[in-house]
Amino acid sequence: MTNSPRLVLRHVHVIDGVAAGVRRDAAVVVRDGRIAEVVDAARAPAGEGIAVVDCAGAYLLPGLWDVHVHFEWPRLPDASIAELTLQYAANAREALTEAGVTAVRTAGTPHLIDVALKRAFEAGRLVGPRIFAGGWFLTTTAGHALATGFARPVDGPDAFVTAIREQIQGGVDHIKLNLTGGIIGPAWDRHWHSFFTPAELEAAFAICRQRGMKVMAHAANAEAVKAALRLGAHSVEHGYVMDDEALALFRERDAWYVPTLGITHLTPSQATSVREKRYVEERNLPASVNTRAEDAVGEHRAWFQRALKAGVKMALGSDLRPLRDAALLEIGLWVKDGATPRQALLAATRHAAELCGAADELGTVEAGKKADLIAVRGNPLDDVERLGELVLVVKDGRLVADHRSRY
Ligand SMILES: [Zn+2]
Repeated sequence: MTNSPRLVLRHVHVIDGVAAGVRRDAAVVVRDGRIAEVVDAARAPAGEGIAVVDCAGAYLLPGLWDVHVHFEWPRLPDASIAELTLQYAANAREALTEAGVTAVRTAGTPHLIDVALKRAFEAGRLVGPRIFAGGWFLTTTAGHALATGFARPVDGPDAFVTAIREQIQGGVDHIKLNLTGGIIGPAWDRHWHSFFTPAELEAAFAICRQRGMKVMAHAANAEAVKAALRLGAHSVEHGYVMDDEALALFRERDAWYVPTLGITHLTPSQATSVREKRYVEERNLPASVNTRAEDAVGEHRAWFQRALKAGVKMALGSDLRPLRDAALLEIGLWVKDGATPRQALLAATRHAAELCGAADELGTVEAGKKADLIAVRGNPLDDVERLGELVLVVKDGRLVADHRSRY
């Protein structure tokens, strides 16, 4: 293998997602798309056929994950499928190259555009993050997110079976089911409203079980969270309102919780950091949405904190747009709500990879794993905001962004 493509990232401090601390002044050797070894910088290989990238003391860590994303932004009314596809591809690429998001799990994408992008990115036809695709967001008539263009209303048990089969045939990795209302929506779409009839719930989960499809369940009240967990949901999204029984069920069923803090925490009166203030200004959500968010935030925060304390498996998913800002905002909110920087980083790397069933190949900086890596200028274990100072991004062993000249 003498002429195999080799990349050496030299003079990096490594946060590998396994050991607790930082390995100082190391070099990460990448070969054939995988991490070959991590050595002291002084022992870094050099010579013909080896591309050496001097990172000048940047902090190297696994690429970031966001396990609850929508590619849309800004919303384009009456856009064609072609226009949406181009917009999503650009937004996904920007998240990879400008924020270091090397993998995402989609939570609602119209026309299976996420499946198409996944294939294009995997084949190297376009540059973008790894995608774990869920296709359409399956809800009901008078359901949630109907104005987004990515929600597909389905009614009745048989219709759910058909819709889910169509998604499977279309190539999705998981099924997104919308069990309740949410924060953003009309008056008849509130997070304490549950949407499915018992027969619809049974049928939708049964066909997913039968076909081995993981269910990503949007469930925002305790009743729906528990129903989803009892029926075998792989992950529960949002969980604004839960109860002790729900927390116990997460652990009993070994299911994941994706809290999406940004949905209730990012309003003008709550934004504190520069990043948050810029986001609320640009997003400019209507006052009615901000009121609904602020009415829900206290309970949401409390259940996030209790789930964290109870040892519920959790991964980082933002549900925010644009994707470029989303993961970093959500990581900041985890820390603001009491997670340690390390807990937030693990949620956005190793644990997210576990949730997606990809932990054997991804999510940490270890020899043998696929080389999806980022380097940032300062130590994110001291301050997660340092993740915003992106130096470079490697995906599948290839340098896809090199921002060293910015610093
Ligand atoms: Zn969502």
